Amino acid sequence: VSIKFYPSKFIAKVAPAKKIEKVVRANLTMKQTAFKFLEAFDDILDVQAVTRVALKTLKGYRARVKADPELEAGDLVDDPAQLVQRVQNEITFQIHDEIKDRYAGEFGVWLPSSAEEPRPEHQLNYGKTYQIGVGIDGVEPGDEYGCQCGVEILVDGSSLDL
Ligand SMILES: [Zn+2]
Repeated sequence: VSIKFYPSKFIAKVAPAKKIEKVVRANLTMKQTAFKFLEAFDDILDVQAVTRVALKTLKGYRARVKADPELEAGDLVDDPAQLVQRVQNEITFQIHDEIKDRYAGEFGVWLPSSAEEPRPEHQLNYGKTYQIGVGIDGVEPGDEYGCQCGVEILVDGSSLDL
């Protein structure tokens, strides 16, 4: 049994560009927005985990807006492509974080990135098995913001003969 997390497929399902733009235009609060994106998460996460991811996404998104001096909320709404990209990156980042919390010690297979310019050092790790929370040379999918690498979580990984 394994669980595959491909950021691009997951995002296409849960937070496609049209949905993000629609939610933004509807003037929902940030909290409502975060929860709306995460409705479909129960495939891989339970209700509590979804709540944690939603809140972390919201918090992380605000922090990144705040940390970027050239960025203002108004600009983001005026530039839907950038807004969409940032929200999607944030959701992906938080899901990886949740996976690391939940499956630490289990094994995972590093899945290829769907980024236009994948990181060469990550490409070397495609298909390799690693321990979640330990990574390969201290790095695992999702550690780096926007990397878009996936992970196949080997739920019965403890029986693997490495
Ligand atoms: Zn990567």
